[in-house]
Amino acid sequence: MGCLIMREQLIQKIKEAGVVGAGGAGFPTHVKVASYAQSVVVNGAECEPLLRVDQQLMDVKADKMVRGLETVMKATGATEGIIALKSKYKRAIASLEKEIVGKPIRINILGDFYPAGDEHLTVYESTGRIVPQGGIPLKVDCVVSNVETLINIATAVEGKPVTDTYLTITGEVPQPITLRLPIGTSVIEALKIAGQTDLEGMKVIEGGPMMGKIIEDLNQPITKTTKGLIVLSINHPLIKKRTLAFEKIAKQAQVSCIQCRYCTDLCPRYLLGHHLEPHKIMRTIKHLQGQEETMKMALACSECGVCEQYACIMGLSPRAVNSMIKKELSKMGIKPDGPPADQIANPMQMHRKVPVKRLISRLGLKNYDVSAPLNEEEFSVNRVEIKLRQHVGAPSQPIVQVGQQVQKGDLIAVTPDKALGANIHASISGVIKEITDSIVISLMEGSDK
Ligand code: SF4
Ligand code: SF4
Repeated sequence: MGCLIMREQLIQKIKEAGVVGAGGAGFPTHVKVASYAQSVVVNGAECEPLLRVDQQLMDVKADKMVRGLETVMKATGATEGIIALKSKYKRAIASLEKEIVGKPIRINILGDFYPAGDEHLTVYESTGRIVPQGGIPLKVDCVVSNVETLINIATAVEGKPVTDTYLTITGEVPQPITLRLPIGTSVIEALKIAGQTDLEGMKVIEGGPMMGKIIEDLNQPITKTTKGLIVLSINHPLIKKRTLAFEKIAKQAQVSCIQCRYCTDLCPRYLLGHHLEPHKIMRTIKHLQGQEETMKMALACSECGVCEQYACIMGLSPRAVNSMIKKELSKMGIKPDGPPADQIANPMQMHRKVPVKRLISRLGLKNYDVSAPLNEEEFSVNRVEIKLRQHVGAPSQPIVQVGQQVQKGDLIAVTPDKALGANIHASISGVIKEITDSIVISLMEGSDK
C-alpha cells in the first residue's frame, strides 16, 4: 500500500513539473512512467553526429541521472536499469560506474554506429528483445528514457519544474558550445549567445544533421525537446540535399534508381525484421495507385536517413520519398499493418552498422566534428515565447493573463482536463506580454534579470 502511494506521488510530481521526453517528440513522461515494465533503458547513445548534450550530462550529472533512473524504476516496478551508451564516452562511463555500485543497474556499451539511439535498436542492443514493427518498447516490457529527461525527473522529485533545456550549438559558429537556456529563447538569441550574429547565407538545423529539421524562421523559440542548433552554409551539400524540391527528388528516383538495394540492405529497420524495403518503394513511386502494399511499407520508416545520406550510391533520397508517402497515406486514413508474424533480426544486422566517423565524412561534416564543451553558466534572456504545444497531445491551457507578473518556475499553462499533455512553467521572471498559441514573457523594465 505504502509503495503504491509512493508510486502515485512520484508520477504526480513528474506531471506537475511538466516533464516530457527531452530527446524525441516530447511524450508526456508521467504517462510513460505510469506503465509497468521489467526494464528501464537509458538511451545515452546520442548517435546524431555533432550533438554533445547527453554524453556530457551523463558525466557531470551522473548522480542526478541515476536518481532519475531509480525513480522511473520505482514508478514502473522495473527490476533492472540499463544505461546504454557508447564506449567513447569514457568520462561518462567512469562517473556512472561510481553511481551504480550496489544498484540493480548495469551499463551496456554500444559501438560508435548510427542510429544507435533509435529506440528499437537501443532496446535490441541492450536486451536482445525486438520491439514489434509499429509498436513501442513497452510491448517487450521496456521503458526507454532519455538522459536529460531523467535529470528533469530527479529535479521534479525535488519539487522543481522544467524551465530550461540543454542544447549544443555548433557548425559555423565561432565556438561550439553546449549550454542550458530558458525554454522559449529564440533561435536567433541562442545563436547570439554562442557568438554567431552573421547568419547571411546560412541555414540552421534544429536537432542533428541526420534527422533534424531546417528552421525557416530564426525567431522561432526553442522548446523542451530542442537538443541542438547546427549552423551551415546554404551551399553545404547537406543543406542543398535537404532543401531540394520533392518534385526533383521524385524525378531523380524515377530516372536514376538502379535497384542495387543498398538502401534496403543497410536500413536499420529492415535489419530488425521490419517489413520495409525502400528499394521496392523507389521502384513503384511512378505508380502511386495500385501499389498500396508496397507503399504501406513506408509507414515503418523511422526517417533515420541512412538510405539517403549513406547507402545510396546514386545520391537518391528514399527517406524523403517515404516521408512524402507517409503523409499521403495518413491523409487517406491508411493505417500501418501489424508487425510481421515472424519478425526476427536479419543475421547480417550486426555486420551492417553505419560507423559514425564514416558517416560524418560522407555528410561533409568532418570540420565540425569538434567538442562543444558544456557551459553551466546561467544565461539570461529578455524575452521568451513559450509554446503551448511542445509535447505530444493537446496544447496546454493558459492560466495567466496579459499584464500579470510571474516568477521563473510559476505554472502558466495546464493540461486540459482528461487530455494527454504537459504543464508549462515560466522560464524567466517577468510580465506576460501576449497569449496566443504561445505565452510571451518579457523582463520587467528596470529589472536586472
Ligand atoms: S540505394 Fe539508391 S539506387 Fe540503390 S536501390 Fe536504393 S534508391 Fe535505388
Ligand atoms: S530512412 Fe531509410 S534507412 Fe532509415 S528507416 Fe527509413 S528507409 Fe530505412
